[in-house]
Amino acid sequence: MAENPFFAPSNLPYQLPPFADIREEHYLPAFERGMAEQLAEVDAIASSTEPPTFDNTIAALERSGRILDRTATVFYSIASSNTTDGIMEIEKQISPELTRHSDAIRLNRALWARIKQVTTEDAEESWLLEKYRDDFIRAGADLSETEQDRLRELNGELSTLSTEFAQSLLKASTESALVVEDPKELDGFDEAKIESLLKDGKYVLPLLNFTNQPGLAQLTDRDVRRRLYELSVGRAPGNFERAAKMATLRAERAALLGFPNHAAYSVTDQTAKTAEAVEEMLGQLVGPAVRNAGKEAEALTEQAGFAIEPWDWSYYSEKVRQARYDFDAAAMRPYFELNRVYRDGIFFAATELYGVTFAERADLGGYHHDVTVFEVSNEDGSRLGLFVLDPYARETKRGGAWMNNLVDQSFLFGQLPVVMNNLNVTKPASGPTLLTYDEVNTAFHEFGHALHGLFSQVRYPRVSGTSVPRDFVEYPSQVNEMWGTWPEVLANYAKHHETGEPMPAELVAKLTAAEKFNQGFKTVEYLAATLLDWAWHKLAPGETVADAEAFEAAALEAARIDVALVRPRYRTNYFAHIFAGGYSAGYYSYIWSEVLDAESVEWFKENGGLTRANGDHFRRELLSRGGSLDPLTAFRNFRGREPSIQPLLARRGLD
Ligand SMILES: [Zn+2]
Repeated sequence: MAENPFFAPSNLPYQLPPFADIREEHYLPAFERGMAEQLAEVDAIASSTEPPTFDNTIAALERSGRILDRTATVFYSIASSNTTDGIMEIEKQISPELTRHSDAIRLNRALWARIKQVTTEDAEESWLLEKYRDDFIRAGADLSETEQDRLRELNGELSTLSTEFAQSLLKASTESALVVEDPKELDGFDEAKIESLLKDGKYVLPLLNFTNQPGLAQLTDRDVRRRLYELSVGRAPGNFERAAKMATLRAERAALLGFPNHAAYSVTDQTAKTAEAVEEMLGQLVGPAVRNAGKEAEALTEQAGFAIEPWDWSYYSEKVRQARYDFDAAAMRPYFELNRVYRDGIFFAATELYGVTFAERADLGGYHHDVTVFEVSNEDGSRLGLFVLDPYARETKRGGAWMNNLVDQSFLFGQLPVVMNNLNVTKPASGPTLLTYDEVNTAFHEFGHALHGLFSQVRYPRVSGTSVPRDFVEYPSQVNEMWGTWPEVLANYAKHHETGEPMPAELVAKLTAAEKFNQGFKTVEYLAATLLDWAWHKLAPGETVADAEAFEAAALEAARIDVALVRPRYRTNYFAHIFAGGYSAGYYSYIWSEVLDAESVEWFKENGGLTRANGDHFRRELLSRGGSLDPLTAFRNFRGREPSIQPLLARRGLD
């Protein structure tokens, strides 16, 4: 048997993982060896007889665990983008083991004693040292033996529940798919769309991972819409119980660590810092958002001529949008061809702002033939890193869109970054891939994360690129969305895929005019999910929830965000961000980041928009710094002042 590809660094350019050589049977042995290797390294650091220094303790920890790092990075990337039953089985097995592994490091008393003695004068080092101390305290380093034993148990149970939550959700996207036998029931979809749904003589529309399925905007049959909506909100019902259990376990863990609840624990290492700060910001948004949604509902009722139900909202809002702005989402799509959107839109904007260029590397591949690799270079020709793109939806990919790192930039290892974007665009049976405007916006957004990873210029992997607090990480990606409709950029990429004609000026005008449309709905849908997340994570220690659906309803009512026609963007049973991802008590982060985003968009506009000087300033002060300094300091260095909520309120029509 050939050597396990994870045991040595990749020989490919930029240490791109050797996907072609990686097989499922490599993962478990690589995880096992990786954990053993790191524990031995940590043991050597902890039992050293030399006086503790930054280099022999913190930097040594940064250098440890290379095999484990390589293995986990590839494994979780594949588990999200191209999973199999075998991968899911490994995930189930390995996730509690990884939790035990990380506990073994952070609850190592000899190691903690040494970390507490380290001192340093260097600014980047002392920021990193503080992060380590914080990580260890938050992981329970200061607790007694008995308390630490209980903590390990809680972490293990939580990690198992979280894996089960994710896996049952992935299964539900096909198991709860809308199935119809008569294509007439799919009236409203175009021929190509209907054709792409045909499977074994039936039409199968899988669920995407949020409440309001895109099909609800088009399907003309009201009863089909109702069925689709009910499948969406009722999927994976077993997850209600898992979620309630997780919330109770998290509350107990928070109490062990000295916090009144999980929300309070969760925000201390964020830019928000306190639960009160989060609640104060949310409090400014709920009232105006609910009022806006109420006004929108009146317009929809008028359009429909009857009292609408939740599954009618998208359909009639599309009608009102067409009537009011003559906006036809379908008419836009021929101007948004996937390759052109990237090369002449997303890459073009990056070249204008930062001088970077992109060259496809057909010699480098991913784990699937739909994956493309680009080499990114600076204006002076120096190499910057690789950008890997996996645009298409497939049954083996989880829902949504995201960025992840395949290799972290760090000076410590002399390593340039390899970053990746995943989208969930439906692959057409043949012909070009035409995007919706929402998908274009998502592509710009994810690429903003990619730039944050690519431009990273830091010494230590722990603070590389997007390794910033959750409530800061969405900020650079949200800023990048602004270039999607920036006139110079739009004119460069929005061209008809057959004729090459630019998008007609009147369509462009409609696109921007309709931007504020339906913002009440979008804000309420988002805030309802945020406040639901918040309610689950403000459970008091010892509190249990017998009926998770009733808890959900009561939480929305108490937060005054229980708008009958607008359910949360995610209900408890499919809220993967908070029960299967890293966003527990953190879904507020998107709007928190948007405060900084709106400030920054304003700055770009005040300073002449799409220019190299602007791009260079943003890159130097913010994007290149990763998590190597206090994020709000980086923001102030860029913006020149403290952030204010006003630009955000104005943008959302909430002022
Ligand atoms: Zn994002």
